[in-house]
Amino acid sequence: MDKKKIIIIGAGISGMTAGIYALLNDFDVEIYEKHTIPGGQCTGWYRDNCYIDGCLHWVVGTNPKGQLFPIWKTIGAFDENTKIYETEYFNKYDIDGEIVTFYSDLNKLKAELLRIGPDDKKIINKFIKGIKAYRHVRIPVEKPMDMMNIFDYMKMGIKMLPMLPAYLKYTHITVGEFAEKCKSKLLEKTFKKALYEEFNLHSLLYIMQALSLYDAGVAEGGSLKFAQRVANKFKSLGGKLYCNTPVEKIATENNLATGIILNSGEFKAADYVVSATDVHYTLYNLLENKFEDEFYNKRFDNREDNSLTLCVLASYKVTKDISSYPKMIEFDVKPFNIGKTVIKELNPRNYSFDKTLNKDCTTLGVLIRVGDDLYDMLKNMNKVEYQAYKNSIGNTILEEIKRYYNLTDDDIKFLDLTTPITYERYCNAYRGSYQSFVTSSNHEKLMDTGLVKGLDNFIIAGQWVMPPGGLPIALFTGRHEAYRITRMEHKKFKTK
Ligand SMILES: Cc1cc2nc3c(=O)[nH]c(=O)nc-3n(C[C@H](O)[C@H](O)[C@H](O)COP(=O)(O)OP(=O)(O)OC[C@H]3O[C@@H](n4cnc5c(N)ncnc54)[C@H](O)[C@@H]3O)c2cc1C
Repeated sequence: MDKKKIIIIGAGISGMTAGIYALLNDFDVEIYEKHTIPGGQCTGWYRDNCYIDGCLHWVVGTNPKGQLFPIWKTIGAFDENTKIYETEYFNKYDIDGEIVTFYSDLNKLKAELLRIGPDDKKIINKFIKGIKAYRHVRIPVEKPMDMMNIFDYMKMGIKMLPMLPAYLKYTHITVGEFAEKCKSKLLEKTFKKALYEEFNLHSLLYIMQALSLYDAGVAEGGSLKFAQRVANKFKSLGGKLYCNTPVEKIATENNLATGIILNSGEFKAADYVVSATDVHYTLYNLLENKFEDEFYNKRFDNREDNSLTLCVLASYKVTKDISSYPKMIEFDVKPFNIGKTVIKELNPRNYSFDKTLNKDCTTLGVLIRVGDDLYDMLKNMNKVEYQAYKNSIGNTILEEIKRYYNLTDDDIKFLDLTTPITYERYCNAYRGSYQSFVTSSNHEKLMDTGLVKGLDNFIIAGQWVMPPGGLPIALFTGRHEAYRITRMEHKKFKTK
């Protein structure tokens, strides 16, 4: 019998995961990717013979005993033999010369927080207890939530019961509000630095539980190799990957997705189409706004409660040995603006821990969260203005790094600055948002199904289906959509 054909738009982690699971379930799979290489936002590149990592700070799922590890292993991202660099601490903060470490190990973390906030024992205990409770979190990886039956819900509910009180308490309080309960100003500052203040505490507890179980490291070789391994797995199973092949439209007929139309005008027929690209681009460009989606429209229209995650990433080549400096440290700087956002601190990531990335140098990567206004500002610039702006930001940061790391002009060189325009240009990311909506305390409903009302045989996968996005969400929404299609064909879902 002829195999059914699935066309996937986008070779990011979600698209490739959907592709791999679809191949394991006996579908014919083709992925069309606009960029010259697979990986989407999970990528890296070279400037001046120096590797810049464009993504991985940590990825949840690196502990072989964890829930996500088997899925990462199935898609070839890493396995038990891959060298994983553990995340010994979430971050370090230099606050007025006092170095505070937000350890992954809970005993060390508690001791450190008590050291800086001895009068805040109660709140520190609550925080540690909250992290421990969150270790019972279960991600619905097996199947999409709308396809779970009563027994699935009961099984998941029983496992998650111990975290329920913490979840109910902390999902509606922001990190900033929690921090303000501290008597110690230093502790308050530390909590406020730990995650964006408007994120709900739930998000911080989730990250910390993963770190505390050593389930959020990075694989040797960085993001570029990570994505290449997944692409190799996809191809080794017989998947066809077409890079440098942008999709122009999704072809529809009588409310049925029938295939895709490439930029070249060529039509490619499919039994199912999965869009693993940015959801705004999918609905408004690829589907030409023909299918009203209330769920997303509500979010796009109410950006105040559904803010986006925009960043710039400044990268520097360092030829002096800086391996004695921490992997991450945040320090205060002379305030400067990126768009309307006032930048008061920098938090470089020192890549010298992974010697396979570079031979004669190392990279410092500075990821900075910026406001939505930057997108409009940069969009209105011409090429020359845009380049000049990037250089000016890159050089401002350079001076601060030289000062903090005690480097001279001979030791360090500004390499590159990505902006929201970069993410829009390469990945069609909505307003250049590198992740999905922020999960604040008043955000809209969390999870979508990926289905579009009125359009059959079509599904959306990827980080926008479940805010705030990130690689694990790209991973399991990709798997979910392969599950959904397999079940539409009344077949049992195979995981190997
Ligand atoms: C600086 C930075 C740091 C990050 N750090 C982390 C981290 O430490 N941990 C973590 O978990 N996550 C991190 N992330 C987030 C993570 O990279 C993303 O959540 C994830 O890669 C999203 O995967 P995706 O498949 O959903 O989407 P994408 O990666 O955006 O993939 C979509 C793909 O679709 C392609 N595409 C778009 N339009 C078309 C078209 N018309 N035709 C064909 N192809 C098209 C794009 O080129 C892209 O390849 C980081 C991201 C950035 C930018």
